[in-house]
Amino acid sequence: MTAETNNVLMKADHVKVYYKGKNRKAGVVKAVDDVSFEIMKGETFGVVGESGCGKSTLGRALVRLLKPTEGEITLDGKAIAELKGEELKQMRKDAQIIFQDPSASLNPRRTIKQILMEPFEIHGMKGDVEARIQELIQLVGLDTYHLSRYPHELSGGQKQRVGIARALALEPKIIICDEAVSALDVSVQAQVLNLLQELKEKLGLTYFFISHNLNVVYQVSDRVAVMYLGKIVEIADYAQLYEKRYHPYTEALLSAIPQVGAEEKSERIRLEGELPSPSNPPSGCRFHTRCPKVCERCMKEEPVFREIEAGHYVACHLYD
Ligand code: SF4
Repeated sequence: MTAETNNVLMKADHVKVYYKGKNRKAGVVKAVDDVSFEIMKGETFGVVGESGCGKSTLGRALVRLLKPTEGEITLDGKAIAELKGEELKQMRKDAQIIFQDPSASLNPRRTIKQILMEPFEIHGMKGDVEARIQELIQLVGLDTYHLSRYPHELSGGQKQRVGIARALALEPKIIICDEAVSALDVSVQAQVLNLLQELKEKLGLTYFFISHNLNVVYQVSDRVAVMYLGKIVEIADYAQLYEKRYHPYTEALLSAIPQVGAEEKSERIRLEGELPSPSNPPSGCRFHTRCPKVCERCMKEEPVFREIEAGHYVACHLYD
């Protein structure tokens, strides 16, 4: 998808993640259905879409918490599903995840210091762990006295900083931020986003940044992928997407953000209906049941995801 292939850190190639629904009626849930993209070293690759579109499932597959049904994910050119022994251990260090709810992801019975020691214990790492923990807590803007505290003694923003410190412990190459700021108040959200940005520059990190909020994705991403019902429908550079969005779903998401595209003063596009079930997606283009620009072809034929401008990919019949 890009000429700079030697700069690719992670690649998803026709990845599908299907699983059985909770009840028989639900059938097979096609949470992620044939997505391909590349994440370049040092970039923030944002993924946006409504709740239930498959973005978190995709994030978990990227760190091997879930096994794809089909397709391949590579990290530094190595297929992560094939890794064993030392290579698997290294991959577990290289790819980390930060979860949405800092309260749920930190063990309430352990102090912050014990929580930050976990990654070193799991990987049997000795050496000067104590000094590294002191360094980590300062790196995320907390004080060393926080190390003796329990999670319930910290605010939501401080807990998420601990989550970030834990993800940084093993010096990862890529961090999956799964709705990492969604549970926080807006002002705290901005502080945590700034921290992530600072850490990226300081440590040369790469992020896969998942959010249902395009405004948040816009603030941090170099490139943005828009997901709808298990499919990526548009990928573009942040600036390209700001200038010109092609897919009607992206247009609808953008119209809900007043400050983006303000010059055009476009009216908010309200999508009718609920997100269809991923176990029974609509025929043809999956967005056709809610698309304001639907035509007959859309109901029968699935649009091909294609490059319509350099680096700008779209799946929509309007641009065939
Ligand atoms: Fe809308 Fe048709 Fe394009 Fe799908 S293919 S987004 S239904 S215009």
